[in-house]
Amino acid sequence: MNALVVEDERNLADAICQILADEGTRADVTYDGPTGLSLAKTGAYDAIVLDVMLPGMSGLDVVRELRREGISTPVLMLTARTSTEDKVTGLDAGADDYMTKPFESAELLARLRALTRRTGDVVFEVSSFGDLTLDLTTHDLRCGDRSVHLSGKEFEVMKMLMSSTARVVSKRDLLNRVWGGSADASENSVEAYVSFLRKKIKHIQSSVQITTLRMLGYRLEVIN
Ligand code: CA
Repeated sequence: MNALVVEDERNLADAICQILADEGTRADVTYDGPTGLSLAKTGAYDAIVLDVMLPGMSGLDVVRELRREGISTPVLMLTARTSTEDKVTGLDAGADDYMTKPFESAELLARLRALTRRTGDVVFEVSSFGDLTLDLTTHDLRCGDRSVHLSGKEFEVMKMLMSSTARVVSKRDLLNRVWGGSADASENSVEAYVSFLRKKIKHIQSSVQITTLRMLGYRLEVIN
């Protein structure tokens, strides 16, 4: 696998390259947006790790330009710890996934593996459980011909619940992943968003429910 790393924090960029090299992945690195874009445009990469805040051109503009040119190389966006807006904008701009800094090397590798397993076109990608389908591009949650749009955090919470249906997702996991461990967020925030989601799921008359497991967290279940 060939990867491109576009990140202006040189220590981090070099660390990412080292993590990839340890896994046998060759990585080119560049520290600014315009060079990142011209390298990415060659289409020579299997995956791109792209920071949002870059000199010359933002990561968001880089991914927008790539998609506009029809280049569908999977993009993993790196966002600042607290900026939820970056994540949503990144996905809207055409990134395939995002990761909040700082992160563990295992998480980086897992996400890149997931991205490169996917084939070419990710535009219509969906996640599903029971009679529910979550459109990962538009953030619409559907049941039959009924659908409802999810806000940024609702989408993130729902996506996590849907991708971990075999196990329970704890409030702590949700806080860390969706809120990035932000000091402004608490378990009450998680409860509030789960409550919004329950209303929306009910609104589209799905047979899926978010079950609370006391002291443990949440799990999706199909009710009869
Ligand atoms: Ca940066």
